Amino acid sequence: MIRLQVCLECQQRQYPLRDLCRACLSDKLALMDDAGDGRLLARTVLHRSSEAEWQQALPLALGTVDLTSGAHLICFLAADVQPGEPVRVKAGPDPLGRQSLTAHRI
Ligand SMILES: [Zn+2]
Repeated sequence: MIRLQVCLECQQRQYPLRDLCRACLSDKLALMDDAGDGRLLARTVLHRSSEAEWQQALPLALGTVDLTSGAHLICFLAADVQPGEPVRVKAGPDPLGRQSLTAHRI
C-alpha cells in the first residue's frame, strides 16, 4: 500500500506531491491510499552515480510504472521485472535504508 496525492476536483492521482493538480491546476489536494498495482513501462540500470554513498548499491534497477489508478511514477525495481509485466509498488527502505518506493513483480 502506498499513499498518492489525489485532486478533489478531477480525481487525478499524481506522484510526486505537488502544490497544484497537474491536470486541472486545482489546489484542492489530499492524500489517499493506493494498492500500488500497475504495469512496468520502462526500466534502466544505473551503473554510475555522482553521489559517493550510492556506489555501494550499484548496479541499481529503476523503472517507470503506470499505476492502475492513473498515476505514473519512477521507482526502484526489486527484481528483474521487464517492461509490460504487472507490478505492485510498495513503500520501504531503499538500498541506503531511506524510505522510498520499489516495484515488485506480481
Ligand atoms: Zn485536478
